[in-house]
Amino acid sequence: MAGTHLMQKHVAVIGAGFGGLSAVKELAGHPEIRVTWIDRQNYHLFLPLLYQVATATVEAPDIAQPARDVLRKHRNVRFVLGSVDLIDRNDRTVWVDGAPINYDVLIVATGSETAKLGVPGVDDHAHGLKYLDEAMAIRERLVSACEEAAQTSDEDRIRSLLSFAIVGGGPTGVEMAGALAEFRLHVMPRVYPEIDPQLCRIVLIDSSDRPLSVLSKRTSAYARRTLEGYGVEMRLDTRVGEVTETGVVTEDGEQIDAFTVIWAAGVKGAPIEGLPEADRRGRIATTRALALEGDPDVFIAGDLNGLVNPSTGKPYPQVAAVATQQGVHAARNALLRIDGRPVQDFTYRNYGTMITIGRHKAAVERGALRITGFLAWIAWLIVHLMKLVGVRNRLMVLLSWLHMYFTRDFAVRVLLRRHRFPRTSLSEPKDDFPAPKVPADGPDPNVPSPGELFASAQEEDREHG
Ligand SMILES: Cc1cc2nc3c(=O)[nH]c(=O)nc-3n(C[C@H](O)[C@H](O)[C@H](O)COP(=O)(O)OP(=O)(O)OC[C@H]3O[C@@H](n4cnc5c(N)ncnc54)[C@H](O)[C@@H]3O)c2cc1C
Repeated sequence: MAGTHLMQKHVAVIGAGFGGLSAVKELAGHPEIRVTWIDRQNYHLFLPLLYQVATATVEAPDIAQPARDVLRKHRNVRFVLGSVDLIDRNDRTVWVDGAPINYDVLIVATGSETAKLGVPGVDDHAHGLKYLDEAMAIRERLVSACEEAAQTSDEDRIRSLLSFAIVGGGPTGVEMAGALAEFRLHVMPRVYPEIDPQLCRIVLIDSSDRPLSVLSKRTSAYARRTLEGYGVEMRLDTRVGEVTETGVVTEDGEQIDAFTVIWAAGVKGAPIEGLPEADRRGRIATTRALALEGDPDVFIAGDLNGLVNPSTGKPYPQVAAVATQQGVHAARNALLRIDGRPVQDFTYRNYGTMITIGRHKAAVERGALRITGFLAWIAWLIVHLMKLVGVRNRLMVLLSWLHMYFTRDFAVRVLLRRHRFPRTSLSEPKDDFPAPKVPADGPDPNVPSPGELFASAQEEDREHG
């Protein structure tokens, strides 16, 4: 009789991110249940490569997998495109764009959204890096700025156009800064020979005293050295008080000029009405089985889940591996509930962290193991390629990387919508924060020229074959 009983059960999964996707894949292997998968986007987005869309390295569709492609082989799952506005837990109903969908068991994996931290001007003037259209907007600014800079000899204007401030020195900010620096070093001289790359300024701002403060001091020092070697200006122990049209103002009142401000200062959970109250980071507390306290048929997986890791005493990090493992676990517990069996507690297997900072440079941390440099970079490439969903996407991304590697050209230069920058130029750089400009009495021996940076990068490339 268990088969008949199971056939009638319905699991709804909200979210096509890492948590929702892994839950659906787990449930899809059980044809005796029905699954409804809901997302306001019709694709799963591979967020770890989003910065590469922003820096014109890969095409936007190459890091997104349509939800219906994932389902092709699984007849017990249907996909619904729509935004969930409300979860009515008394009625066991989720409301999608005003229409009800009933459930027996619900898995909520709505992830997170950019944390603006109450800083004025972020909404109007900064660019988040969480959605495809945000990455496309940054790319449009980057390419538009280069095209305009290539048409003028006004150095102030070029400096303004090519000024980037990245707020947040976590993995996203560091990878973005590394990619922009790589762009300035390798791509700009080749594609825009008219532009002096030294007029391009990249500033990374963080409130802590080191980048990647969630990782070990060693990795953090490596990231700092690498970025500084690339000519990225680090502004540590610095809190942003406001974002304006022409840059950011620190809490100390200092103006840091930048036509493009990228907001990578963290994320907060994206809860839905009808769930219990979230904590101050927007995350929802659950039991160790990932279910809501007092509502054992509603599970929360991924960035939205605020469960504390007993071995660290802190909530699990908002990373893809946690979301994926929680998605699988929530799905297994959903099946146990349907089967009337006791649910299991979640345990996280930490396979480590990896981050890349431009060509041949990356860091891997796994337990006590620390690898930096070329080997870590190769490991990063392989792991990210394998984790991408879809064979076509893997091939396309691999092609883009090979193209970029061998030609030093960026793959996506087609400008679909030109961005028009304000006609004013930014002020001259402040004395205490000089732009990398060649002084009248000759170059500063401590500041590598673009030629030197270029030569050292080439030297390194030769070392690595
Ligand atoms: C730029 C960037 C780079 C990152 N790089 C890495 C990395 O290198 N390694 C790593 O481990 N982690 C990385 N992360 C973190 C990782 O991507 C997240 O931890 C992971 O995506 C969380 O998965 P999730 O399923 O909880 O949420 P998400 O992946 O955010 O997915 C949530 C889904 O829910 C949908 N949704 C939200 N609200 C609703 C609603 N009301 N109705 C319908 N649908 C809704 C969204 O459209 C989205 O598809 C990165 C994050 C970002 C932003």
